[in-house]
Amino acid sequence: MASIPLRAAMKLRLRTVGILAADYGFNILMLFAFAAADVISFQIPIILLGIAFLFNLLFAGLILSGKTRSLQDPSLTALQLLGACGFNFLGFLLAPQIVYFFMINLFVPLSYGSVHFTQRMFLASWIFLSCALGAMMLTVGVQGDIELTTPTDRIFFWAVIVFALGRFLAINAEVSRLRIRLQRKNNELMHAATRLSDLASRDELTGLWNRREFMRLLLEESRRAVRNQSSFCVAIIDIDHFKKVNDTYGHLTGDAVLHELAQLLESMRRATDSVARYGGEEFTLLLVNAKLATATVALERIRSQVMQYDWEVIAAGLRLTISVGIAAWRPGETLTQVLNRADAALYEAKDAGRNCVRVSHT
Ligand code: GH3
Ligand code: MG
Ligand code: MG
Repeated sequence: MASIPLRAAMKLRLRTVGILAADYGFNILMLFAFAAADVISFQIPIILLGIAFLFNLLFAGLILSGKTRSLQDPSLTALQLLGACGFNFLGFLLAPQIVYFFMINLFVPLSYGSVHFTQRMFLASWIFLSCALGAMMLTVGVQGDIELTTPTDRIFFWAVIVFALGRFLAINAEVSRLRIRLQRKNNELMHAATRLSDLASRDELTGLWNRREFMRLLLEESRRAVRNQSSFCVAIIDIDHFKKVNDTYGHLTGDAVLHELAQLLESMRRATDSVARYGGEEFTLLLVNAKLATATVALERIRSQVMQYDWEVIAAGLRLTISVGIAAWRPGETLTQVLNRADAALYEAKDAGRNCVRVSHT
């Protein structure tokens, strides 16, 4: 199981080596072209090719051996970029007549640093490169002017810039690709987190809030009520003789009834109120900013709608009623206390013959 992400990580690290190796390749091809045009000797691209080959072999070997895995930067980007800069400095020494080529090329691999570099690494690279370049120019000097008199000179100068620009853009495209990948991964994670939190707070059968989420909403509302000196009501809704529904029509039909009633309750609540499945065939309704009189009217309307609803869409001959107990929260009261009072009111409703709403006055 663990080998898949490990292999993906390895692939990503080797990709850094591959991209920088391709960059060396471009440089060396360009140097061969310079040699072919008699601007520099053939020895120079051959020496640099050998060095670049050894460099890349060393990095690929180190990464493949797994020795770099525990490092903060397992791709050894900083070292690889340092190597690439060293390559250009060496070229500067060996072929000062094409100094502009190496100077321009100094910038290309560095853009790759934007994937892995921290701000401190950027600053360190800048200081190091500036000092190294300054020291070179002072000690070796730049021999001769950059003469672009013949058409060949101009074409070479143009080609160097065109290729440097192309590689610069290609590397930046890679950076962008990585950024997009990261963004996508991030989105996936956020999505998964939302789904997880939804799974943890929803009732599977009805899609309503579950008891735990209801308790959280209730706690939140009680704190708001204390702060704003507002009031809220809690209603417990229980299906009458639901056991008989199961016994007569089967458990699956019972499930369908629970689902249908959940939709009905959800469609009848005010936008700011919350309905939850409290457990079994019991539902709860939190009526925010509501006094007992308002809550009673709302629940009376819900009770009547449930009674009149055409339950025959689920099973022929099916009829359904609910009993409701309501309690208004009193300042200083715990959530358990207000729920117990609503439950006691529900018992009163059952005792009174069901299909009715009772309010807690105790
Ligand atoms: P009362 O009017 O007194 O409330 O009677 P009742 O039959 O509704 O109450 P009782 O507590 O005796 O039975 C509740 C039934 O609800 C029993 C149980 O099988 C059923 N029930 C609880 N959860 C589910 C569920 O998820 N699906 C189905 N189909 N039935 C359920
Ligand atoms: Mg019950
Ligand atoms: Mg019941």
